[in-house]
Amino acid sequence: MAWYPGAEKMELEPESDEQPAITPTQVIFHSVAAPWTPRRIYEYWRDSTNLESHFGVGYDGSVGQYIGTQTRADANMRANRRADGTGAVSVESASDDQSTDPWTDAQINAFVALGVWLHQRHGIPLRICGEWDEPGFGVHRMFPEWSDGGTACPGDIRARQFRDVVMPGIVAAAGGAPLPPPGGGSGPARYRVTINGLEYGYGAHGPQVEEVGQALVRQGFGGHYQSGPDQDWRDADTLNYQDFQRSLGYSGSDADGVPGEASLRRLLGRLPSAQRVSLAHVVAAARTDPEAEQGHQTYGGEVRIVEQALADEGFLEQRWVDGSLGTRTVQAYAAFQRSLGYAGEDANGIPGRRSLQVLGQRRGFDVTD
Ligand SMILES: [Zn+2]
Repeated sequence: MAWYPGAEKMELEPESDEQPAITPTQVIFHSVAAPWTPRRIYEYWRDSTNLESHFGVGYDGSVGQYIGTQTRADANMRANRRADGTGAVSVESASDDQSTDPWTDAQINAFVALGVWLHQRHGIPLRICGEWDEPGFGVHRMFPEWSDGGTACPGDIRARQFRDVVMPGIVAAAGGAPLPPPGGGSGPARYRVTINGLEYGYGAHGPQVEEVGQALVRQGFGGHYQSGPDQDWRDADTLNYQDFQRSLGYSGSDADGVPGEASLRRLLGRLPSAQRVSLAHVVAAARTDPEAEQGHQTYGGEVRIVEQALADEGFLEQRWVDGSLGTRTVQAYAAFQRSLGYAGEDANGIPGRRSLQVLGQRRGFDVTD
């Protein structure tokens, strides 16, 4: 049985000795619907009801503890003690009669200190419970299993304070990494991912961002744009992308508005790449380099990308990957075209748009005009 050093111990008998042991895996916050001190909450548990919480927190931040945290307390219905012996630690708090007032700063500070201790003492994970029996922190109203037929406890304002202030405060004070709350409630997701060498998500910049935005608008998911789309990824891009993800049947964190590889491929029909090759440039090279002196380069950087792709596909020896689109490279490209089923003029070794796009998708470059 564990007693919190930051609380005044007011041991509740006979419950403290008679109720079964639990392994605490959750912390659940409540409002007691009365402006009581921890002592008065203790008296209420002792004299007026069979229910009780582990802790009570007054408006001034003072904390009382009534039962050890490894003993069952009866404030959370099915979460008090589950069949596997795990259970919830309950924290009551002073409030007005309707539980409509916000927690005071002193109460919030007390919750943060207590939450850190419970995390360290019992390993309660630094997250909001996603299910009624999932380890973490929560407020009474979150799951019907935590009450008898549903409850508004601890009140609307306090439920928001829990998500916006208390939980982030516990996470920060415990030195943990913040976790996004399940089901949102804190605005659009603001993080970036890198797919195929290009960034997407809030703050990303570049032509790939504008391409996503234009595709969203084309497919009817442009409703959140006030202006744009353009090359800067803003919240509107996230919200539009989220609508698109939901249309694919994604939910939860899979539909947070930040692209994944699968949804991006569905939207664009391909994955954009950081490497870009201009069709006009490689065609110009293919018409110039074979006639020029050995090793002549026209747009050598882009040609080298195409040559490396041909080598990786097995059509060109690695030693001819040199940035010069000479006779050997034209022969290699013709062989690649024949492998796609082209014949005659269509397999003359001069890159065409469709064959170059196929090569780019296989080997990770984008084709531009
Ligand atoms: Zn409650």
